[in-house]
Amino acid sequence: MSDDSNATVERVLLAAPRGFCAGVEMAIKALAWMVRAFDGPVYCYHEIVHNQQVVQRFEEQGVVFVDDVAEVPPGRPLMLSAHGSAPEVVQAARDNGGFVVDAVCPLVTKVHHEVKVRANKGYQIVYIGHEGHEEAVGTMAVAPEAIHRVESVEEVDALPDFDTPVALLAQTTLSHRDWADVASATAERFPDVWTPGRSDLCFATTNRQSALMEIAPRCDAMVVIGSANSSNTVALERLARGAGCATVLRINTADELPRRADGSVDLHGVVGVTAGASAPEELVEQVIAALAPRDGVEEVHLTDEDEYFPPPRNLRDMLVAIDALGALGLGADPTVRVASDDRNRAASEVLADLT
Ligand code: SF4
Repeated sequence: MSDDSNATVERVLLAAPRGFCAGVEMAIKALAWMVRAFDGPVYCYHEIVHNQQVVQRFEEQGVVFVDDVAEVPPGRPLMLSAHGSAPEVVQAARDNGGFVVDAVCPLVTKVHHEVKVRANKGYQIVYIGHEGHEEAVGTMAVAPEAIHRVESVEEVDALPDFDTPVALLAQTTLSHRDWADVASATAERFPDVWTPGRSDLCFATTNRQSALMEIAPRCDAMVVIGSANSSNTVALERLARGAGCATVLRINTADELPRRADGSVDLHGVVGVTAGASAPEELVEQVIAALAPRDGVEEVHLTDEDEYFPPPRNLRDMLVAIDALGALGLGADPTVRVASDDRNRAASEVLADLT
């Protein structure tokens, strides 16, 4: 950490991994395929991911975001967001008669599955999750009669004495710190509680938090890039504060950095930079350019992430069919060509190509 109190940013410590996770990559690429494959408008239930810039980029391409499937005209193509949707929303989407792609992250699907199985076996489920967050709302709707959402030790204490077995599940994007105390209190209250072999906290959330903790002790200030409604972004912000960073800023874009009268960024010393799982890398580049660190950027690399989630199956099948028609010259749009494997195509490039 620097004790340099003069005006410049000395160095940037850049956390890795940061930004887009495998689930967000999949969802963005899937919606981009929908935009290219269908005449507009394509509809999307909820923000595809919780990031203003990503949502805006798709809106510019004519995507209409709705909070109720009833707003979608019958027969229109519809995507369901990465956070996972309630079973009745999925059913309403299918009943609407258009092509429906469910871009739920497979890790959220795993939690939905756990809820369903445990509820069917007669368990009461203690679910650690944020009130009103779309992932929590969708997960709780899988078995509303059996699930009890908690966020604090006090809420665990206030649960009734269940006369059935109890299971413990969680929202994927919680910080380990937010989860651990509540999980321990649940295990204390219900000593025979069933828990999954691996906690529901997802690898991407955990990796971004560990990378932040690696750089936090060396930073005079921490900049967390991401939206206020992004759970994993807010978890990063809280973690940085908990780690004792003197200044923690959560920003959507570089425009929100504090500025002096001369336009330079009003931070100094060593500045840590990270980004939530739904924030594009171009925002990170813009923030670093604005910080203009005197001694450059040091990327602190905690671990590699090679997870890849393919597009949802029905979208994949449709794209392959379009490609086959194109190859046969049967009138499909020849610009809609399908990479047999989009693993090596970054969602940030796909987003940039949309403009
Ligand atoms: S943060 Fe985790 S659970 Fe959420 S979309 Fe990304 S990989 Fe999936």
